[in-house]
Parts: sequence; C-alpha cells; structure tokens
Amino acid sequence: MSPTARVYGGVDLGGTKIQTAVVGARGKVLGEAREPTPTTGGPLAVAEAITLAMRQATLAADIDPGALTAIGVGSPGEVDEKAGTVAQARNVSGWDGAFPLGPALAEAFGTRVVLGNDVSVATRAEFELGAGKAYKSIIGVFWGTGVGGGLVLDGREWSGRGAAGEIGHMVVRIGGRRCGCGRRGCLEAYAGRASMEAKARRLVKQGEHTALFEIMEKRGRTRLTSGVWERALQDGDKMAGRLIDQAVEALGAGIASANNLLDVEAIVIGGGLGTKLGDPFVERIREAMMPHLFVDDRPPPLLLAALGDLSGAIGAALVAKAKPSG
Ligand SMILES: [Zn+2]
Repeated sequence: MSPTARVYGGVDLGGTKIQTAVVGARGKVLGEAREPTPTTGGPLAVAEAITLAMRQATLAADIDPGALTAIGVGSPGEVDEKAGTVAQARNVSGWDGAFPLGPALAEAFGTRVVLGNDVSVATRAEFELGAGKAYKSIIGVFWGTGVGGGLVLDGREWSGRGAAGEIGHMVVRIGGRRCGCGRRGCLEAYAGRASMEAKARRLVKQGEHTALFEIMEKRGRTRLTSGVWERALQDGDKMAGRLIDQAVEALGAGIASANNLLDVEAIVIGGGLGTKLGDPFVERIREAMMPHLFVDDRPPPLLLAALGDLSGAIGAALVAKAKPSG
C-alpha cells in the first residue's frame, strides 16, 4: 500500500462484542477483528478492549496502528460528539457516567477520533454500501441486544433533535411487557435479546422447561447470544419458538407503524439476531408487517443487511472519513 493511502478505523461497540474494521478510502474492508465486550471494569476496561481489537484489525490489514487517518466509533448511549464522551451506554455493564472515550482512543492511536450513534452509523453503511444502496429513503432496523433504528430520508440521515430513530421504543402493546427503558409495551420489550432472555429466566423460575440455558452453558456463554437462540430454534425448543414468535409479531407491528408514518423505499434488517437468523426471518417479519400496513398494495421491500455483522464498524469508519475534524 502506498504510504499516502488513507485508511480508516471503525469500531462497533456492542452489548456483547466489540467489532473493529480497517476500511480503505472507497469503503473496502482491509482487516477486521472482534473482542467480547468486558462485563466488568466499566468504561476503562471497554476502552482497553477496543484498543486491542482495533490493533488486531490493523494487524489483519497489515498496516501500522499509527497509520490510521482517523477512527470512527459507533457507540450506544448518549454520545457527545464535540466532547468525545459517551454516557449511559445502557447495554454495556457498569457504564453510567460520561466517559471520554474519544480522547482515550485518540491518545492510544495518535489520531483523531469521531464518535457517532451505533445504529445511525450502521444505517449509513447499509445506505451507502449495502442493502440500501439503490434507495433514497430507508429505515434500518437492528435486531440484537436491543432493537435500534436508523433513518435516511431523501438521502439525508434524520436524527431529529438527536433522539430520532428509536424504533425499539415504539409502543406495540399499551400496558404491555416492561421494557429495559422502564416503560411498558415497547417493541424492544418483546424483541430485544436482553428482554427475551429476562422473560425466559422468569418462565424457567415459574417451572417451564427450555434448553436455552443448557445450550448457553455448553457454549461457555453467560448470556443467551444470537447463536444460542438459533440453536434452540433448530432443536425445536418450544419456549424459544414462542418467544421468537412474539418478537417477530412485535417487529412486524413496529416496523409497519414506522412505515405508515414515513413511507420509505426500503427497510433493512440487521443486528446480531437479524444477521444470524437471516432471510427466513426477514420473510417472517414481512408477513407479520403486512396486516398492519395502512397502504398495503405497495409494501416497501424488507432486506437483510448486506454488510452483516460489519455494518456498524464500516459505518463508523465512513463517519470518520466524512468528518474532517473532531
Ligand atoms: Zn422502551
């Protein structure tokens, strides 16, 4: 590679894993790596794990860690782009106050760091390079630990006053199941992996049987990962099937409601569970959406995220490339 070629680092900070990528100026992935998100040690431990995963990605890309032109981070929680801080990253354990993640990584790599919202950067990647490439208006739905949403309307990212796109907190049942946000009846309370796991644990306490937790232990996991859900579904586990059915129903209702309001050209389904369960579940979500669509003779296509697990990290790199300073 020529010494003047620009390369960007992208970090997707998730509730269970940190995905990093080194991306070339045209969006090509040159190297990638992943590390589990630390469950103890708070933001400092997370910053260290990000640094490690980013270094591994540069190793895979065969470049010096100091050669990154800029690093972008897609993070959950409240992101202050100017200060480079992240607060209330709720799906990351022990992260309550504001932590200067941007400055910490800037120091570790000697380059500038740009922070963005995890879901909006992933939507941007799918819009620019992935399943949404052919369209001007899309909704990105990221089905994982939570249910995140990103909007591109007429070619522009729409963040409202900073809080738009929270499709996971669309109400799909008045007075329904308690959500991680403290409210009731949100889409995420039925479809978010964290909520589904909490529900499964309650059902087990009530004496119901499931193989979910045995599969989890066999795999040396402490949480019901997307792979655990997939395995349980393949084995015909009844509880897993029922909880996933409810998730699909809730996703259908929430996505249809969002589209009744926005009437976009396409809807892209990504996230850990979306990517793992793949096209058959995108089709099931489409079927669950149809009865709730107000104008149902020309439904928007539902598409599986084309960049898979990498959309967040690639999107973060794109944001780092687009922002000249920060
Ligand atoms: Zn909620």
